[in-house]
Amino acid sequence: MKILLVEDELNVSRFIKKGLEEHGFSVDVAYDGTQGLKMAKSRIYDLIILDIVLPYKSGIDVCKEIRNNKNSVPVLMLTALGTLNDRVNGLDSGADDYLVKPFHFQELLARIRALYRRANSVETTDKIIKIDNLLIDLDSKEVRRGKALINLTAKEFRLLTLFAKNKGRVLSRNFIAEEIWEHSFDSGSNVIDVYVNYLRKKLDHGYEKKLLHTVIGMGYVLREQYEDQR
Ligand code: CA
Repeated sequence: MKILLVEDELNVSRFIKKGLEEHGFSVDVAYDGTQGLKMAKSRIYDLIILDIVLPYKSGIDVCKEIRNNKNSVPVLMLTALGTLNDRVNGLDSGADDYLVKPFHFQELLARIRALYRRANSVETTDKIIKIDNLLIDLDSKEVRRGKALINLTAKEFRLLTLFAKNKGRVLSRNFIAEEIWEHSFDSGSNVIDVYVNYLRKKLDHGYEKKLLHTVIGMGYVLREQYEDQR
């Protein structure tokens, strides 16, 4: 997971970068708003930690410009002030959450994890999800590939919905187990593989373009097939 940290106070940015790297994150640091915005535009980050009071361009303005660019990367704002006004301005500018300085590192870590999780398993507001010619109607629970209706069990439908809401993202067996089965079986069980195979047969059998893919050693992903894999 790659994080951009925009923070001009050297001791704070060092402390955050070091702590996050110890937890397995990869961290790029920018020391002013202009540089931060440039980096946010030039690379893909999983999350941006953005201080508000920065040289050249404030965190509020950086965040607004990121959002104006149609970039929905989760943004966690840091503020030393913590007044209601700051908080409102931060959230108005498009930030997802904010943290008041000084904070405990564990608090920062918890916020990051929560934001990342929210961003990646978002409850979509779309009632119909479309992947290639697969259509999933979340209200009527009707699933079609092209014109063909696909009959799924309740469990298979939940599994498909989980994949569809995380379209293009590889889901580990652990993640699937937590989301669908709440770990109600022992982890050595192959129940997930069995269910994914049921689902795959119903979705992909007889179609040239496969949608549900195995990523060896990592898990499964629902996505349109890349041209070069055909
Ligand atoms: Ca600052």
